[in-house]
Amino acid sequence: MKLNCQSTHIELTKGNRSHRKHARLRNRLADTIAEKGIHDEAVLMAVRSIPRHIFIDTALTNRAYDDRALPIGCGQTISQPYTVAAQTQLLEIKRGDKVLEIGTGSGYQASILCHMGADVYSVERHEELYHKAREILQELGYRPTLKLGDGTKGWSAYAPYDGIVVTAGAPVVPDDLIKQLNIGGRLVVPVGSKESQMMVRITRVSEDSYEEEQLQQFKFVPLIGEKGWD
Ligand code: SAH
Repeated sequence: MKLNCQSTHIELTKGNRSHRKHARLRNRLADTIAEKGIHDEAVLMAVRSIPRHIFIDTALTNRAYDDRALPIGCGQTISQPYTVAAQTQLLEIKRGDKVLEIGTGSGYQASILCHMGADVYSVERHEELYHKAREILQELGYRPTLKLGDGTKGWSAYAPYDGIVVTAGAPVVPDDLIKQLNIGGRLVVPVGSKESQMMVRITRVSEDSYEEEQLQQFKFVPLIGEKGWD
């Protein structure tokens, strides 16, 4: 598969000085999402630590710590920080958990998961985003295992996972993902129309039984692929 999209300018060279400059803004962002209902301290710590501006075009740096989604090229977005935090909180991650993300995008969500001590696997279908995310994550010192391809079928080579998070909106819950959950594992996936989706959490309770919770309405870019949208 080769999907081309326009290049954006990402700056990796400023290093720690620029990261420190934004620390105050990151703290404020963490406080904002805490007020909106994020109580998992490990998630809030990750938001306080990770330089979100590094994941987006330099032209948008001054909006990097607003609680909003921003364009990352290829018609895709880095999710709103509250949304990233809400999905991560629903995963209930412990250090060492094996987590699969569908939709690497900018790599920001993957960095949050890595920061929390998860063993992270992430799939992206846009080649340019895949390469860019790989470069940024490496630069920041995170080592998730990344793949270019259609994530709607999961990543069976590394299954089962303690957590699976889909960061694009699915028309239905992709059944391959459910099958790749560990017993006790959680799948967090937005499901609905292209305009609006319900956040669904499916927990694998035993070999063949699952529990489903419907949580809150969100708006994601579409999950495109064999078990997603055309
Ligand atoms: N988690 C990302 C959010 C990116 S938006 C972040 O932190 O920035 C969702 C991403 O899902 C987009 O990059 C889109 O290209 C990707 N995507 C959509 N359908 C996909 C599929 N079937 N497999 C893998 N990635 C997919």
